[in-house]
Amino acid sequence: MLKTIMAGVLLATPALALDLDRVPEQGMLIRGKVSPGTKVTLDGGPLTVSPAGDFVFGIGRDAKGSVTLKAGAETKRYEIKTRSFKIDRVDGLPQDKVTPDPSVTERITAEAAKIRAAREKESAQTGFAQAWQWPAPGRISGVYGSQRVLNGEPRTPHYGTDVAAPTGTPALSPVDGTIVLAEADLFFTGGTVMIDHGQGVQSVFAHLSTVDVQVGDVVKRGQSVGKIGMTGRATGPHLHWGVYWRRTPVDPAGLVPAEPPKLK
Ligand SMILES: [Zn+2]
Repeated sequence: MLKTIMAGVLLATPALALDLDRVPEQGMLIRGKVSPGTKVTLDGGPLTVSPAGDFVFGIGRDAKGSVTLKAGAETKRYEIKTRSFKIDRVDGLPQDKVTPDPSVTERITAEAAKIRAAREKESAQTGFAQAWQWPAPGRISGVYGSQRVLNGEPRTPHYGTDVAAPTGTPALSPVDGTIVLAEADLFFTGGTVMIDHGQGVQSVFAHLSTVDVQVGDVVKRGQSVGKIGMTGRATGPHLHWGVYWRRTPVDPAGLVPAEPPKLK
């Protein structure tokens, strides 16, 4: 009898077709679901699929054209939805404000290598598939993808969402993860924490006044990893929150409700 019921349940559950949580769009993290055990490729490259059938990929800010997903026998081509990003042109700046001082080049290079090494870590964790929460209450003070052009030179776009909040406000992991970088004082980003959420998805928190975790710590969604501050190159206390899929920065704001919770 039990066997019959079980078989009935299995038959009643149709094979899960390739399902994405949003259309592929510039700068977005896309989460998908397939029947467990299905092999998935993105433009021919294999994606990891969790035992529950969860997978993820990111679309770059400047990606164009289409992406093709193959899941088992199913193939789907998606046009990448385009977005427009804010560009600020600032001209007439003294050149030494545009190019960093050569004396700090060595430090910047060493720190960039450390960040790159942490970013290469890809685990089988599945925190990325959870419902994401804002890492802090406050006001959005900077958006993903905006770009400054200084004296005609385009700078790296702003790859993160800034939440302005007072120094000392806890910075919370948006979903479950493991700490892959915890540094008290990097040149650009000051107190910096990187959290691995699985399958190449990571959060980075910058400008922290206090770092309260160590590499290897396991953190739960909503758990504090440090305190907001204005360390590194920051002009006021805020949390810079970046999200990456492998080497592709994506828009954190695309993962959470439109506004962070209000400061109490
Ligand atoms: Zn920022």
